[in-house]
Amino acid sequence: MTQTIFSLAEGIRKCTSCPLWKGRTLTVPGEGMNTSKIMLIGEAPGVEEDRQGLPFFGKSGTVLDEMINLAGISRKDTFITGAVKCHPPKNRNPSNKELKTCRELWLDKQIEVIKPKLIILLGKSALFSMIGKGKITEIHGKTISKKYFVTYHPSAAMRFPTIKQEMEQDFKILGKLLKKL
Ligand code: SF4
Repeated sequence: MTQTIFSLAEGIRKCTSCPLWKGRTLTVPGEGMNTSKIMLIGEAPGVEEDRQGLPFFGKSGTVLDEMINLAGISRKDTFITGAVKCHPPKNRNPSNKELKTCRELWLDKQIEVIKPKLIILLGKSALFSMIGKGKITEIHGKTISKKYFVTYHPSAAMRFPTIKQEMEQDFKILGKLLKKL
C-alpha cells in the first residue's frame, strides 16, 4: 500500500513502539503542507501540544512563527513535526533509543512522502535524530549535506535572549537559501 502523510498519521496515533506512548494524551504526528519544500523538525510535544495534538502550539509556537516569518515564509508553507510524536513524562528529553525508534518507524517515512528540499533541524534532539552528532552552538546557521539546516530549538530562544538573536540571524540566512530552492 502506498503511504501518505495521512496514513502515517493514522499509524502514529496507534503506535506503542517506545515507552513514550504510556504518558501521552494525544500523539502529534505533524501539521502542514504535505508537498512542502521545507520541513521543520523539533524535539517532542510539550504539555500544550500533547493536549491539542498539534506541533508548536504554545509559546514556543509563537516564537517559531516569528522565526519562520523572518525567513520570508509562513507556517502554512511548511510541514512541521517532532523527532518523537509523544510527550515525554515531566518534559524530559527523549532518549537516544526513543529518537531512533520514532525516526525509523515514522520520521524517515514522513520525509520519504513529503520529499522536502530542505529540512530544518530545531535543537539537539532533531540534530541527533537525523545526523547522530554535532553541537548546535558550532553548526547553527549552516547547511549539512545540502539537505539539513541547523538551528536552535525555540524553547532555548525563549530562555536566553542571546540565543534568540542567533536564531533570528539563522532564519535570515535561511530566507536567502530558500530563495535559491
Ligand atoms: S514516540 Fe514515536 S515510536 Fe514512541 S510511541 Fe510515540 S509514535 Fe511510537
